[in-house]
Amino acid sequence: MDLYEHQARQLFEDHGILVPRAEVTDSSKEAREIARRLGGRVVVKAQVKTGGRGKAGGVKLAADPAAAELTARQILGMDIKGHTVGTVMLAQPVDIEAEFYVSYVLDRAAGRFLAIASAEGGMEIEEVAATRPDAVARIPVDPAEGVTSAKAAQIADAARLPAQTVDVLVRLWDVLIREDAVLVEVNPLVRTAQGQILALDGKVTLDDNAQFRQARWGEQESAHDDPLEAAAAEKGLNYVKLDGEVGIIGNGAGLVMSTLDVVAGCGARPANFLDIGGGASAQIMADGLSVILSDPSVKSVFVNVFGGITTCDAVADGIVQALETVQLTKPLVVRLDGNNAARGRAILDDRAHPLVQQATTMDGAAHRAAELANAG
Ligand code: GDP
Ligand code: MN
Repeated sequence: MDLYEHQARQLFEDHGILVPRAEVTDSSKEAREIARRLGGRVVVKAQVKTGGRGKAGGVKLAADPAAAELTARQILGMDIKGHTVGTVMLAQPVDIEAEFYVSYVLDRAAGRFLAIASAEGGMEIEEVAATRPDAVARIPVDPAEGVTSAKAAQIADAARLPAQTVDVLVRLWDVLIREDAVLVEVNPLVRTAQGQILALDGKVTLDDNAQFRQARWGEQESAHDDPLEAAAAEKGLNYVKLDGEVGIIGNGAGLVMSTLDVVAGCGARPANFLDIGGGASAQIMADGLSVILSDPSVKSVFVNVFGGITTCDAVADGIVQALETVQLTKPLVVRLDGNNAARGRAILDDRAHPLVQQATTMDGAAHRAAELANAG
C-alpha cells in the first residue's frame, strides 16, 4: 500500500528525520487557519498517490493565509493523472540551497535492497537516470547488514551527497525496516540556506503482507483508492482498475495477464483486470460482471476462460445466471476453451443473448473485443 506524502512525512518525523512543519485539511477555510498557525507563507500541496504533482500544478506557494485559502480551493478537487485531490497539506516553506534524491527499494530479483541516490534531486529521477546515468548511484544493500553509518557514508560518497546526509540515510533505513516498507523515497531531500538537511517530499510503500501490524494506516482509510476496487474487494474479487476501454474477466492471474497483453496487441486498452480465480460460480460471475459494467469507461467486455477444475460449462452456466440478475449494457465477447469447452459454448449458444458473442480463440476474441471497444 502506498502512503500519502503527509503520512510518509509523519514516519520520517517519527524516526528523527527533519521535515517542514505541516498540517493537512480537506477544507479551504481551514487552510487559511493552518497558514496563520504556520506563520502566513505556506506551500500548498495536493495529497495524491502519484508523482509529478509540482508539474501538474498541485504544489503552489501562497504568500499569506488569504492566498493559502484561495490556492487550497484551486487545488482541492483538481485531477492529477486520474487522482482527484481530496486533501491538501500546508507546509512551512523552505529556502532550498540544493536538492538531492535518495531512496531504498526492494530488489526482488536480487533478494536484497538497492540504495538509489543522486545529487540531482527535485525532478523525476527516471529523467536524470535516462539523460545522465552517471549522476545516479545505485548501491546494493544486504538486508541482514542494513545501512550502518559506514554504509551510508559509502552511498553518500558514491552519489556525491554532502556528509550531513549520512545520518538521514541511516534513519531512512530505520523507516524502511521498522515500518515494514518495501520502498522509501525522498525527492527532494534538501539542504537549506541554514545548512539543515530536510525531507521535503516523501513516498513510502508498505509491504501489504505486514498490514496486520501496520493497522495505524489501515484504520484511516481503505487501501483501495478506487471505489470499484473497494466494492470488488468487499465481494472477494481480485479487481484492478486500469485506464482503457476493454473490461477483462479471466480465471487465473497468468491468463488474465496475457489477456491484457493480447488486447493491447489488438490496438485497444484494458479498462481493468478481474481475476475470478478457480471457482467461477454464477455468483462470482454476476459479481464480476456487475463490477465491470459499472465502470463507465468500459466499452466492451472480454471473458477469457480456460476450463480446468472449474469446467467451461460451469462458467457458461454462471454467465447465463448472471445475465438474469445483471442488466448487460455492453457487448460481451466470450472465449471458452479447455475442460468441457464444447458444452460451455452450447449453453451460451442456447441462451442466444443479443449482446453476447463467442470466439474460439483468444486472439480472435481479443480482436473482436478491441473492435467493439474502438467502435463504441
Ligand atoms: P512532486 O512534484 O509530486 O514530486 O512534489 P514535491 O513535493 O517534490 O514538490 C515539487 C517541487 O516543488 C520540489 O522539487 C521543490 O523544488 C518545490 N518545493 C516544494 N516545497 C518547497 C518549499 O518549501 N520551498 C521551495 N522553495 N520549493 C519547494
Ligand atoms: Mn517530489
